[in-house]
Amino acid sequence: MTTNDSIQVSVLGLGAMGSALAAALVEAGHATTVWNRSAGRADNLVAQGAQAAATAGEAVRASRLVIACLLDHASVHEVLDPLADELAGRTLINVTTTTPEQSREMAAWAADAGVAYLDGGIMAVPEMIGQPGSSIFYSGSAAVFDQYKPLLDLWGDGTYFGEDPGLASLYDLALLSGMYVMFAGFMHGAAMVAPAGVTAGEFAAMAAPWLTAMTGGLQGFAEVIDGGDYTVEGQQSLEFSDLGDIMTASSDQGISTEVVAMVQGLIRRQIEAGNGKEGFARIIESIKQPR
Ligand code: NDP
Repeated sequence: MTTNDSIQVSVLGLGAMGSALAAALVEAGHATTVWNRSAGRADNLVAQGAQAAATAGEAVRASRLVIACLLDHASVHEVLDPLADELAGRTLINVTTTTPEQSREMAAWAADAGVAYLDGGIMAVPEMIGQPGSSIFYSGSAAVFDQYKPLLDLWGDGTYFGEDPGLASLYDLALLSGMYVMFAGFMHGAAMVAPAGVTAGEFAAMAAPWLTAMTGGLQGFAEVIDGGDYTVEGQQSLEFSDLGDIMTASSDQGISTEVVAMVQGLIRRQIEAGNGKEGFARIIESIKQPR
């Protein structure tokens, strides 16, 4: 297809994300059929030019390309299991957030049903769909990714990671891990300064440039980890990184130490194993070897 071809496409699931994906397809002139379990969520899209299907089966029959953007893995099976025969010979792109194993299971289900399958992980919030900065990860059928790339690019920059259908989810969840732990670190700092009369907003104004500057250190950690030598000169040692003062200051402020204790635990395991003079990046060895 080229960007000018109109594609018949059906979108299953019109939550915040499914609606944003469908709206981008309608706006680009694709013949878009939409379905949602609960009534009423298609109204805005129909006003913009989408066709509403009364059932998921009707939506599947309307298009060769079916997009699933439902709550979770279980809801995808709940909707699609009864429709396996109707999906046969069609293409399914599932952008519902799932674990890598769930993505692989869904791909195997699709293969059994004779359905071409591409799995997706959306690295954006609904407001970002179609805007700069929106990024979507894909894995599974390369043929499907290549065929529909211009359509997928309507949502954001599409990156294809390979035929293993679990890879998009793996990268998606790995990045989300970094995000959530960073968010928890921000919340911890905000809780620490709150008793001093600092608002979360004031703290956010300080934290955003600080954390942004600190991301400049990620490549340095990566070079040490990929090089496999935690004794390279110039690194901050694990002993120097001991978070005892932060733990004490947090307790003194009357707040939980859970967030900082998690990092401190990773550091202490390496120090106790005799690696205290080595670089902070070595805590990845604690993470790779669960207790
Ligand atoms: P919403 O909670 O807004 O919508 C969930 C959708 O799933 C609704 O359409 C809901 O239908 C439907 N649904 C839930 N359970 C079932 C079921 N058993 N059978 C049929 N339909 C069901 O979620 P989003 O649209 O925000 O998210 C959709 C997917 O996109 C999720 O997997 C999410 O992780 C992912 N995603 C979302 C992001 C975001 O910022 N919103 C960011 C990145 C990924 P009903 O209206 O009937 O309840």
